[in-house]
Amino acid sequence: PFDVLVLGAGPAGAAAAIYAARKGIRTGLVAERFGGQVQDTMAIENFISVTHTEGPQLSRALEEHVKSYEVDIIRAQRAEQLLPAAHAGELHQVTLESGATLKSKTLIIATGARWREMGVPGEQQYKARGVCFCPHCDGPLFKGKRVAVIGGGNSGVEAAIDLAGIVAHVTLLEFDSQLRADEVLQRKLAILPNVQVITHAQTTEVLGDGSKVTGLRYQPRNGGEGQELALEGIFVQIGLLPNTDWLKDQLAINRGEIITDARGATSIGGIFAAGDCTNVPYKQIVIATGEGAKAALSAFDHLIRTC
Ligand code: FAD
Repeated sequence: PFDVLVLGAGPAGAAAAIYAARKGIRTGLVAERFGGQVQDTMAIENFISVTHTEGPQLSRALEEHVKSYEVDIIRAQRAEQLLPAAHAGELHQVTLESGATLKSKTLIIATGARWREMGVPGEQQYKARGVCFCPHCDGPLFKGKRVAVIGGGNSGVEAAIDLAGIVAHVTLLEFDSQLRADEVLQRKLAILPNVQVITHAQTTEVLGDGSKVTGLRYQPRNGGEGQELALEGIFVQIGLLPNTDWLKDQLAINRGEIITDARGATSIGGIFAAGDCTNVPYKQIVIATGEGAKAALSAFDHLIRTC
């Protein structure tokens, strides 16, 4: 059995595996895809001390770093089922898609998340060519340009406020008849001179010139003809879905996010979690790596105290 088994090889999982292996303990890593969401990212300019990198390059670097340690990498596999240890001192079990079962004294869940997409024509074609999901990441690329934010919940309104300070103009489109964000955010939004809010708006298409976004089309849900907006960027803020469906009957989870404490511990002893699959605020690479490191140190601490 493993001392530490890490599930997921995005930034959080890679960091956890490296920190665990450096303690000289038996470390396994279920790596469906090295890099995780980073694989889908173009420019990365906020991973501290790296001025500029790109998703595939950072993913390769994460993989190389993990491979420089003694980590047992189980590739192209997803964890499907968790069977927590029945009693303290027993092993946790994880069943993979292949049917194989892995056993470990401690687990670190780092299965990340995925952005909910609009599912309209043009969205896939123009991903990372104007269609974005992360204002902290891509906002500065649209300095002086026009953007739309899709979604009027807290994330959408926060994104619009954030972007309004960088870009020339923000149009916020909300499907419902009113914004759903907290009052205080809505008040802040309302006083910004370069933000327009359109409610009852269903985005129906991302428009582009073949290489980048040039606008979007939406249908007013309260009647009238389809409308077009000319703009350079679209920030989709309709939800981040943690990859935790397979855990919901076992661990304490809130709105899909695994509840962790300041040490990355979950509701079950010996099971830790890190990164975008948890309730740690702000989903970023630098944060996920830090959380992964922390979860591994916590797992090591658990091992020396209990096993
Ligand atoms: P993830 O990166 O999501 O990795 C989790 C991994 O686990 C994935 O490989 C997944 O396939 C795998 N997995 C899922 N389910 C299972 C399972 N059941 N069993 C095993 N494995 C599983 N952040 C920044 O800091 N800067 C940026 O510029 C930036 N740009 C971004 C651009 C885009 C388009 C996107 C989508 C995100 C961006 N982010 C950026 C956010 C950043 O990528 C995430 O915060 C970070 O990758 C989270 O790391 P993680 O390891 O927690 O999860």
